[in-house]
Amino acid sequence: MLFRRFLFTPSKITNDILQIPTHELLQQLGYVKQASSGILHWLPLGLKTLRNVEGIIRRRMNESGAHEVSLSSLSQRSLWETTGRWSNTELFKLKDAKKKDYCLVPTCEEEITWLMKHYLTSHKDLPTIAYQITRKYRDELRPRGGLLRGREFLMKDAYSFHLNSDDAVSTFENMNATYDKIFSDIGVPFVSAVADSGDIGGDLSKEYHFIHESGEDTLYQCSSCKAVSNVEKCGSYPQESNQYLGDVSVKYALNQDNDTLVCLYYPANRQFSWNLALEALDNDIEPKTKEMTNEAVLSKFTEDYDPIFNGITRVMDVRLNSRSNFPDFPLKSYLKNNFAQLNDYSIVDAEEGEICASCEEGELESAKSIEVGHTFYLGKKYSQAMNATVRQQDNSDVVMEMGCYGIGVSRLVGAIAQVTRDEKGLKWPSSVSPYKVSLCANEKSLEQLEEVRTHLQLEPFTQFDAKATIGARIQQSHSLGIPIAIIVGPKSWPNVEMEVRADFKSNNWETDYKKLHTELKWEYNPESQKHFVHNTKVNDVANILLKDL
Ligand SMILES: [Zn+2]
Repeated sequence: MLFRRFLFTPSKITNDILQIPTHELLQQLGYVKQASSGILHWLPLGLKTLRNVEGIIRRRMNESGAHEVSLSSLSQRSLWETTGRWSNTELFKLKDAKKKDYCLVPTCEEEITWLMKHYLTSHKDLPTIAYQITRKYRDELRPRGGLLRGREFLMKDAYSFHLNSDDAVSTFENMNATYDKIFSDIGVPFVSAVADSGDIGGDLSKEYHFIHESGEDTLYQCSSCKAVSNVEKCGSYPQESNQYLGDVSVKYALNQDNDTLVCLYYPANRQFSWNLALEALDNDIEPKTKEMTNEAVLSKFTEDYDPIFNGITRVMDVRLNSRSNFPDFPLKSYLKNNFAQLNDYSIVDAEEGEICASCEEGELESAKSIEVGHTFYLGKKYSQAMNATVRQQDNSDVVMEMGCYGIGVSRLVGAIAQVTRDEKGLKWPSSVSPYKVSLCANEKSLEQLEEVRTHLQLEPFTQFDAKATIGARIQQSHSLGIPIAIIVGPKSWPNVEMEVRADFKSNNWETDYKKLHTELKWEYNPESQKHFVHNTKVNDVANILLKDL
């Protein structure tokens, strides 16, 4: 039935759309409804959008050879204790009637490793990768931005299992190629950021981001080598070394043998970076001392301090000058032979305008971004803890290597909405839009509208408020973010008008227009940017345009 009263009719927006935060806009337009802080219900328009995003991800994951599974959202405490993750404060914990502890899963490394242990027994079963698109939970203290950081969210998580690290790294690369395809299919410009240099055994990982001023992350891009990295992993050098004359801060730590005091000196006006410091020291730091205060580290070190056996390593940030204002050195005596100094390392977060540490040529430009995907090479972190082994060719058992690959699907819907919206409302790329076209007519043109519908092979959005004028319908179609509004009116009949709302990603339609406009009775007015087409040809023209949207 046409013009039925749509249960979740979007509200008419009267105030300045630009002033409305995106999560609020999604509610007013009838995509989602917030139940309480960080908890959302999906309404028909939102659900269609979510499923379109899900469909793109599922298609590419299946193409990569991954097996789709769906694990329970409830997971028992014992598994999480095996890996030391039960103490995570963001874990949503609950008890059953017998007071047994469970959590609502935030990710599934534990459960999938437990599951796969039963099916992966021989080296011949590897490599393999399993994924799921399921709801996940996080006991977020301060949920923000609706879909971007909720307490319940839809997530695609994939886990791969391997005989050795070479194989794990090669799957890691393949998954990154799959992610490139997924984000290209979605059609919103994205960047992939190196999250680490990628030494085998280190935390090899890659992040996928949309660049946007509202983002919570900061990325740096090099003007020369174009490498993009997260601020936490971005190495930089100052334009000129040893120029800093101000106050110097110090961070103390111990090496892994606990026999050397490591003193890390850096400009007091900069943010110290453990990632870069660990790189400078080849990871030779006792992890516990990273979290300890300087006083605690010093008292531990001086307890049994013996200048003969204990050493001191000083790491100087490359910006420091011998005339910088250093804090007093805490030890009264030490032997020169046990003293080492590392100069010219950069151990603070990068800043815009500094030199890229990868190519040592380009300047770093910073940009705010929204993270939408992350891939990791995990090594044996989980498989070791859970004793997930397979039998090798020589009959010995080996712990499997693993990788994991996440995309926050509901978060991605929120991020796409956020980066594509404008002063008229949402502006979906056609890949994810809940409807590709809308049909706008007033009640006098109902018959013609039905006629157009018979020529359309796409399901159009028609659920406007029954009393809305044709102008209001076009406006609503645009604010809902539907890529094309098809306007049916007595003046232009038997032709209809098409207004494009979505951004053009390419202009291939122009070639088709030149070739086919006579045959399709298609006229384009460059001034108004409107397309006019005979009602019988509306499907052909819509499909030509949608390929570019
Ligand atoms: Zn560079």
